[in-house]
Amino acid sequence: MEKEVLTTCPYCGAGCQFYLVVDEEKNQIIKSKPAQGRTNESTLCLKGHYGWDFLNDPQILTPRLTKPLIRKNGVLKEVEWDEAISYTASRLNKIKEKYGPDSIMGTGSARGPGNEANYIMQKFMRAAVGTNNVDHCARV
Ligand code: SF4
Repeated sequence: MEKEVLTTCPYCGAGCQFYLVVDEEKNQIIKSKPAQGRTNESTLCLKGHYGWDFLNDPQILTPRLTKPLIRKNGVLKEVEWDEAISYTASRLNKIKEKYGPDSIMGTGSARGPGNEANYIMQKFMRAAVGTNNVDHCARV
């Protein structure tokens, strides 16, 4: 037996509505189905359509990062923030010098950081990097 639970997508601020379709025997979510929400009108982006497998299996989630990581000799290693910021600034400068500012893009996140962090990201890309290549994860 299946049941449909009407809910609101938590991935971004668009507020799309959909049904989580639940297999009642297994007590598992098996898929989502778009609802006639005010903002989504029976459509969903990829996250709303497919981003629910972790609810049945939390082990597939990547553990929360508490420190920056840099790949060294092919292996991701935890580093301090100063090293991560210096490394990233140096790499961005080298890429910008070699290929120009439009070879770099920045993308914001709809989850967690809020408007201020997204504002800073686009300002950094425009004022510091010198490109208008900014985007946002909700555009998928
Ligand atoms: S745009 Fe996608 S991520 Fe955002 S609320 Fe709608 S389905 Fe969810």
